[in-house]
Amino acid sequence: MSGSITDFRLEARRWLEGNVPSNPSPEDGPASREYVLAWQRTQAAGGWAGIAWPKEVGGRGLSVLEQIVWFEEYARAAAPSPLNASFVMLNHAGPTLIACGTPQQKAYHLPRILAGEVLWCQGFSEPGSGSDLASLRTRGRVEGDELVIDGQKIWSSFADIADWQELLIRTDPNAKTSGALSWLICPMNAPGITVRPIRTMAGPHKYCEVFYDSVRVPLSNIVGGLNNGWATAMSTLSFERGTASLALLIGLILKVEELLAACPPQRHEMRARLARLRAEGAAIRAMTYRFALDSENAVPDASGSIVRLAFAEFGQRVTAAAVDLYGIDAPEVVGAHGWGHDYLDAFSETIAGGTAEIQRNIIAERVLGLPKGPR
Ligand SMILES: Cc1cc2nc3c(=O)[nH]c(=O)nc-3n(C[C@H](O)[C@H](O)[C@H](O)COP(=O)(O)OP(=O)(O)OC[C@H]3O[C@@H](n4cnc5c(N)ncnc54)[C@H](O)[C@@H]3O)c2cc1C
Repeated sequence: MSGSITDFRLEARRWLEGNVPSNPSPEDGPASREYVLAWQRTQAAGGWAGIAWPKEVGGRGLSVLEQIVWFEEYARAAAPSPLNASFVMLNHAGPTLIACGTPQQKAYHLPRILAGEVLWCQGFSEPGSGSDLASLRTRGRVEGDELVIDGQKIWSSFADIADWQELLIRTDPNAKTSGALSWLICPMNAPGITVRPIRTMAGPHKYCEVFYDSVRVPLSNIVGGLNNGWATAMSTLSFERGTASLALLIGLILKVEELLAACPPQRHEMRARLARLRAEGAAIRAMTYRFALDSENAVPDASGSIVRLAFAEFGQRVTAAAVDLYGIDAPEVVGAHGWGHDYLDAFSETIAGGTAEIQRNIIAERVLGLPKGPR
């Protein structure tokens, strides 16, 4: 077993050495779409797409262990950040289809995702319905064999360059949450969809508002059944919170090593701080690997919130240490964007996919079984 994993690692390392693009990814817009799709196509052509996805949908059908080894080598090779426009389709839309999709949905969409033919975005949050996702108001009414959708989503990352959206809407206005919503595959070129990028202080235009004005989507695009979307969305969020940050965590841990190597020996306090971060990273990595291995071939459980929260807060501590280490030079140092950018960006990690407070609520109520807090 260890021999074959070692062979796999060396094969991955060799391939990455010869294929990682030398130019950094543009952060937003059509150029970032082309970059991300081209890199996905390159990985697919080399046999490195969907390592742990089933063979029948174009994956390699290997184990989570091999997937982890790939992520380790990927980070080591300084390959393009996984937190780009392919993140949704590879880390939670695709896995949701694998877990909840019909055979037709899987057969159509999953090979196209892996082959780098399409991009997906997520349409869950609405103005007023972020943490309280169950209160969402975007409506879909059944007309014949179609849903007719009206409403608005917000913070839909890369919606302006996506082909498909995992869209959560209310299809039964009278039912309780568990029977009121539907999760559907929405084509972003459907008539009646307007996408408006949001300008943020951080610069890139990757977040969007999406408006739906009598948008028609076939009922056959519903994943997990009409009015059963809450259960499907819980699967999506379990992947998003549980296993999606694995590759990002591995990359971050490697960055701590780079910071330690760059830290002058006389900066004792900084070296001690970085050493603590190294130890913390090792602990979080062990927990995350165990969680990923325990979740193999299953939808991850609520303890993914522990993994997500630990990663997000660790990222904020690492980027803060980097800024303190490099001082005024931080924006210019390391990687495509510099630590100044990464420091600012890390604040969003305790919001995306559920805020830190929401993750703590989930850990308290669903993992530890404590009484529910006031709502
Ligand atoms: C980088 C990034 C990318 C994103 N991408 C997408 C995307 O692609 N698609 C998408 O649909 N959404 C996306 N989002 C939106 C994200 O899911 C929401 O921002 C998040 O769920 C929080 O919702 P909100 O912004 O409405 O904040 P609110 O829910 O209004 O929360 C405001 C504050 O109140 C606190 N709070 C709320 N309820 C409770 C409670 N019960 N207990 C304790 N504290 C509480 C929150 O923790 C927070 O501090 C993205 C967000 C970020 C930052």
